[in-house]
Amino acid sequence: MKLDSISPEKTGSLLLVSACLVGIPCQYNGDSCPHDQLQDLATQGGVLPFCPEVGGGLPTPRPPAEIQGGDGGDVLEGRAQVVNIEGKDVTAEFLAGARKALRIAQRWGIKEAILKARSPSCGVGRIYDGSFSGRLVEGDGVTAALLKREGIIVKNEEEVR
Ligand code: SF4
Repeated sequence: MKLDSISPEKTGSLLLVSACLVGIPCQYNGDSCPHDQLQDLATQGGVLPFCPEVGGGLPTPRPPAEIQGGDGGDVLEGRAQVVNIEGKDVTAEFLAGARKALRIAQRWGIKEAILKARSPSCGVGRIYDGSFSGRLVEGDGVTAALLKREGIIVKNEEEVR
């Protein structure tokens, strides 16, 4: 996908973007993972950055977390949990962050989101399997699943070249 195909001029709205993709150091370890083209778009005012984990009340840095027992859709249905590497259930924070992301998207009329691949919040299509071993399974993170359910187009940054 070409970046100009997802520009605000073409989509008619801002893009919701994972905050870590535009250089905000909100990842669990305090890092960010800047994406050159999304950062360029951000400098033009075309993106609304948001971190659902921080938005849901978690600190940075924080212990890494993964979904156990399903994917983000299962978390929304109460069939799976988000647990951090120390064994603490952080499902409530992940759900709160996802709902906040949705409210922001709806408030700003956002139709499309570009989210960080493989994250238990933001991952689209593939996420870690809950064993903290680096294995991937099919599925979406909690925020990605909720935004998709509400009709927002959700892609990961690896689809933006
Ligand atoms: Fe980035 Fe999303 Fe993780 Fe926040 S929750 S650090 S925005 S991948």
